[in-house]
Amino acid sequence: LWGQVCNELQRTVGRTNFNTWIAPLQLIDLSDGIVSFEAPTKFMCDWVSRNYGEPILRELRNSGVAAERVAIRVPEGRPLAPPPVEARPVVEKAPVAPRRPLRAIEEQELPGAPLDARFTFDSFVVGKPNELAHAAARRVAEGGPVSFNPLFLYGGVGLGKTHLMHAIAHELQTQHGELRVLYLSAEQFMYRFVQALRDRQIMDFKELFRSVDVLMVDDVQFIAGKDSTQEEFFHTFNALVDQGKQIVISADRAPGEIKDLEERIKSRLQCGLVVDLHPTDYELRLGILQTKTEAYAARNPGVIVASGVLEFLAHRITTNVRVLEGALTRLFAFASLVGREITLDLAQECLADILRASDRRVTIEEIQRKVAEHYNVRLSDMIGPKRLRTIARPRQVAMYLAKHLTTRSLPEIGRRFGGRDHTTIMHGIRKIDELMATDRQLAEDIGLLKRLMES
Ligand code: ADP
Ligand code: MG
Repeated sequence: LWGQVCNELQRTVGRTNFNTWIAPLQLIDLSDGIVSFEAPTKFMCDWVSRNYGEPILRELRNSGVAAERVAIRVPEGRPLAPPPVEARPVVEKAPVAPRRPLRAIEEQELPGAPLDARFTFDSFVVGKPNELAHAAARRVAEGGPVSFNPLFLYGGVGLGKTHLMHAIAHELQTQHGELRVLYLSAEQFMYRFVQALRDRQIMDFKELFRSVDVLMVDDVQFIAGKDSTQEEFFHTFNALVDQGKQIVISADRAPGEIKDLEERIKSRLQCGLVVDLHPTDYELRLGILQTKTEAYAARNPGVIVASGVLEFLAHRITTNVRVLEGALTRLFAFASLVGREITLDLAQECLADILRASDRRVTIEEIQRKVAEHYNVRLSDMIGPKRLRTIARPRQVAMYLAKHLTTRSLPEIGRRFGGRDHTTIMHGIRKIDELMATDRQLAEDIGLLKRLMES
């Protein structure tokens, strides 16, 4: 009888809708006018009840069943609503009933970002600054049981976060083709979410994101301050962790330092393994340059790099790997155009601007000037004796920045601030550190000033 009703339903709601929403239903019981079904997930229960309850009832009645109500629930033994998150330790989890495949969802293409074919483990050079991040990424790429969740990778721009995430995805795709791996940026996550809201396809969105085995979200700091996206991210995150699915997240800073990110999300992000990619050191930079040069030479036989050139670049270009790579690319292009061997002279000539930019060091004078400008106080007050709060505070900010943006010692900084004692400088820096924890405006001011001077 149900089969007959299904045939009718397929006609009335359409084949796709039928396959997506009604086919996965299991007819459980029919008594007292109540028709009971089981659906694989809570979302499906809600969605089907709301959207297909009426048609189902109608078709049942047409077939002569005295049905009054449709009831849809998840199979016994699976909690309807997840218990509160705080009450659940992440590490030890009760085994979850295997998920019934949602065919329509699983056949759907994942809305991931394209992977860069060059970002593999093979092309990733490991050094002290990134060895931990690399090892953790390797572990995740094994596709074995989840040992930490999430893996949270953070570090400054161009240090290899995206590269590592793509490498995980590549590795899983080749070794574990059966796993559904979804990689995307937090920005794309938001975009999809907003689109789903607009198109009223939020249930599809939820189902889709909850159907993956490995979810990787790059640059998660992007969703800070975006309230409903954060909320949705949080639920997706929890749903996947509950199912024992692996999550990998990256950000430009540690979870606790992402401003305008909900506390509960921060604490969830800290639950797994948090590893940072440190700024590169000389050896790593040299290793990267050598690896890239070898790869280039393999593709372009005849290219000659004089000895000392790579060492020179590794020594002088310290900003980040992206800049380093850019320099090398330009060098190769230039050399092939002019048909010359790559010598130190050629490097200096063709990379003059990059080298100059890398050489730039912020001076204490510059910091004092920018801070004075920002707070609209006189430059002379930076070094003067006034104790007025409106002047003393900016002065302390300048001390703080001098400590963080230059390599000057405290006594040296003291001398540049009108001959103050190093303990005064230390006190000023501590004060700012303390205030920043609670004073958002101040923290923002400092972030802004830093960016101004670092660029
Ligand atoms: P992030 O996402 O941290 O900003 P990316 O992963 O985009 O940085 O890396 C920037 C560039 O530097 C990429 O081209 C990447 O391949 C390269 N890169 C970064 N770290 C390494 C490394 N350890 N070995 C090889 N290439 C690297
Ligand atoms: Mg990146």
